[in-house]
Amino acid sequence: MDLYEHQARELFEEHGIVVPRAEVTDSAKEARGIARRLGGRVVVKAQVKTGGRGKAGGVKVAADPAAAEITARQILGMDIKGHTVGTVMLAEPVDIESEFYVSYVLDRAGGGFLAIASAEGGMDIEEVAATRPDAVARVPVDPAEGVTPSKAAEIAEAAGLPAQSVDVLVRLWQVLVREDALLVEVNPLVRTAQGRILALDGKVTLDDNASFRQARWGADAAGPADPLEAAAAAKGLTYVKLDGEVGIIGNGAGLVMSTLDVVAGCGARPANFLDIGGGASAQIMADGLSVILSDPAVRSVLVNVFGGITACDAVAEGIVRALDTVRLTKPLVVRLDGNNAAQGRAILDAQRHPLVEQATTMDGAARRAAHLATSA
Ligand code: GDP
Ligand code: MN
Repeated sequence: MDLYEHQARELFEEHGIVVPRAEVTDSAKEARGIARRLGGRVVVKAQVKTGGRGKAGGVKVAADPAAAEITARQILGMDIKGHTVGTVMLAEPVDIESEFYVSYVLDRAGGGFLAIASAEGGMDIEEVAATRPDAVARVPVDPAEGVTPSKAAEIAEAAGLPAQSVDVLVRLWQVLVREDALLVEVNPLVRTAQGRILALDGKVTLDDNASFRQARWGADAAGPADPLEAAAAAKGLTYVKLDGEVGIIGNGAGLVMSTLDVVAGCGARPANFLDIGGGASAQIMADGLSVILSDPAVRSVLVNVFGGITACDAVAEGIVRALDTVRLTKPLVVRLDGNNAAQGRAILDAQRHPLVEQATTMDGAARRAAHLATSA
């Protein structure tokens, strides 16, 4: 579960990391009063669980309380990458001298944590990481030892961060451990012209397995970050949004994972993970298809089913009835194999749906779906 910036800010403050004074509201009128309390000039920041708010126009400086109200009105209701802005945080402005990046993230492959830090933080950190990987230090952290002052000094040294950031690095590790986080990120961590170090923006991802002992966030914060994931969860589907263009539906987590790999191997990128599980009712198919088709990035959909206890003819019937309720707007490639595959294929063939085609192998189906998604 991701926290909002203002919740991350609250945690940082509780653990002794210096943050700007700030208040949250869902009302532009209230924003004026908050700005007055904070000294007049404020930064108005959209509270959405996605990055890149600054570049999307969701972070703006307002010169006085009246301007804060106008700016808050502009930002409230704004759409940022599919997230509607429901609240804004108003923060006292900070006189930035330099922007740094620091984070701790679970490193599954390494069996530990990774400290990632850079002296070139700010809104272009992704570009820095892509074009000049040397500017971003990656230091493994042993979870049993944690970030001691000497480890923090090692991280600061590797990234070229000022000595004053060592204390923040130690405290940020305490946030991760005490709050059961999988990720804590500060970008930017800034040094002001007066030499103070402040966390200006924070991202915290909590470990859902520990939610029973982190009850303070409640159900409000527990919702999935992505709006499509929220829609899928409401329908009881196991859906994870990804960045690609081939929508994927399969039965069984292992088969779906393999399907993602095969699609990637064909030069396209999967748009999602969606496991419809053992059942293949028309309702589940229709729900799955409607979630996938409402992702504007999707350009083709691949249904990959291996019939076991649920036979392929039942799956084919499910697809046919789903197509009665969901208007298909993108090409659909279906691969049915296993129990009653021939009957299932015959059912789909009989439909002669102009946007539905079949493939007999997983490779063939993935190649076709990848081609449909990547050709103009
Ligand atoms: P993000 O784009 O979603 O990561 O939002 P951030 O909160 O990181 O804000 C984006 C950028 O706005 C930061 O990198 C800063 O350069 C700038 N910014 C944010 N808060 C302040 C502030 O208090 N003062 C100044 N001068 N700039 C700020
Ligand atoms: Mn940021």
